[in-house]
Amino acid sequence: MSDNFPPDSPADVVGILDDLNALTSRPNLPGPACGVTTALGKITAAAPEIGAAVRDRVDSGDYPASGVATVLTARTGTAVSAFTVRRHRKRGTPDGCRCPR
Ligand SMILES: [Zn+2]
Repeated sequence: MSDNFPPDSPADVVGILDDLNALTSRPNLPGPACGVTTALGKITAAAPEIGAAVRDRVDSGDYPASGVATVLTARTGTAVSAFTVRRHRKRGTPDGCRCPR
């Protein structure tokens, strides 16, 4: 917190519900591809059928994000973090990346 909002100050509640409600109506426009899509693109370019199978596994919660990130990074040379994998799994939602669903 900054100096102009000390811990003992009252909460700023005016408009807070509007702030939160705006989050649910925020358009999730397609944006630049994240590292997961970049890595998947490289795999698909090399072997389309393997790319599709890898895509399914990346989206599956059965595969831990940290391990998926390690394998994608090692196999494609594109740096992918576990955080990026988790965000990619939530793509199209306000907490996800901006890759198309
Ligand atoms: Zn993504």
